[in-house]
Amino acid sequence: MASVNEYFLRLPGSYLFSDIAKRVSAYQAANPERKLIRLGIGDVTRPLPPACIQAMHQAVEELASADTFHGYGPEQGYSFLAEAIIRHDYASRGIDLTPSEVFISDGAKSDTGNIGELLSQDCNMGVTDPVYPVYVDSNIMSGRAGTLDAEGRCSRITYLPCTAANGFIPQLPEHRVELIYLCYPNNPTGTTLTHEQLKKWVDYALENDALIIFDAAYEAYIQENNVPHSIYEIEEARKVAIEIRSFSKTAGFTGVRCGYTIVPREVTATTTDGRRIPLNPLWLRRQCTKFNGASYITQRGAAAIYTPEGQQQIRETIRYYMENARILRENLQQAGLEVYGGVNAPYIWLKTPDNMDSWKFFETLLQEVNLVSTPGVGFGPSGEGYLRLTAFGRREDCTEAMRRIRDWMG
Ligand code: PLP
Repeated sequence: MASVNEYFLRLPGSYLFSDIAKRVSAYQAANPERKLIRLGIGDVTRPLPPACIQAMHQAVEELASADTFHGYGPEQGYSFLAEAIIRHDYASRGIDLTPSEVFISDGAKSDTGNIGELLSQDCNMGVTDPVYPVYVDSNIMSGRAGTLDAEGRCSRITYLPCTAANGFIPQLPEHRVELIYLCYPNNPTGTTLTHEQLKKWVDYALENDALIIFDAAYEAYIQENNVPHSIYEIEEARKVAIEIRSFSKTAGFTGVRCGYTIVPREVTATTTDGRRIPLNPLWLRRQCTKFNGASYITQRGAAAIYTPEGQQQIRETIRYYMENARILRENLQQAGLEVYGGVNAPYIWLKTPDNMDSWKFFETLLQEVNLVSTPGVGFGPSGEGYLRLTAFGRREDCTEAMRRIRDWMG
């Protein structure tokens, strides 16, 4: 009989959002007349930009004819998309990249979850806490995280708390970590790091020979000037950082599936006998072995984001969600709640009133306001006492949710 990878058995009970879905379905089944507003899961509600739709239609037509048909594409992605990414997302900010440093994928979840395969199981890793759960869970699966305690902390992970007490700015770890996951703008707190704050992390990685996995899935939501869009805006970050991005939240690709990862040529990791190994060829090897590329249709759709029409259309969509964020933030503040995020990110991070625990406040909002949220503790132990709302909902749902909260708070 095959023996199981027992590290999977160390994972927390269930994936956060399935847990929430179960509670919500149970409530709805018992109260079918109640109209729930869902501002929990971070899925988008606006349709794809027309420029993407048009490009995807055209790509379908190409596939319909033998002369223009595309079968397997390059595992790393088509150069038309890689070049558009380099020109618009990096060269425009003074960052030089070559197409061989860009790896187009089916989204940031796969890449954030898979990238750890390149590193030894013995690497000490650190994560900001709370954070997107995939970083921790994927490392539990691969055996790098140790065992999970009752509070949800893994024995071999260094947690870097981000709470109101430290302004959501993670402190550098007290002992050396070799692998650090950073997510900015942050899911779930909606907070960001300034250039100077991010530079501290790059300097730490340079001094400690550490690797930063920088998840910039929400980069397009940055509004303020002193917030870096890419970690490569920091000098020498190319030596120590892999950056992961997604078209999901930028252009409504949550269902279409496309993202990309930058693995600069200079990024290395060491062998036990002290040799430095560049990670770019290893990631290429990994992708060629386990991934056959995002579809041609998808990549044509993604490339259309970079046309002038595409750019204008995504700007409108982002404006729509950020206006939702403003409505949520201001109304919640007026209702007397402590609110964070929502300025450079489409997430609102709320302190629960009266130090209620996250799941209790989640249940309260579900039952008394009929609002679906996400309990902060689901994103890590330091998320306890907080709750996340997404600004990706429909405008009328956001305004109705705020009306209900105002009434409920009296
Ligand atoms: N990274 C972060 C921080 C996210 O919040 C999400 C999705 O919610 C992802 C990655 C996944 O993005 P994708 O849809 O590209 O897989």
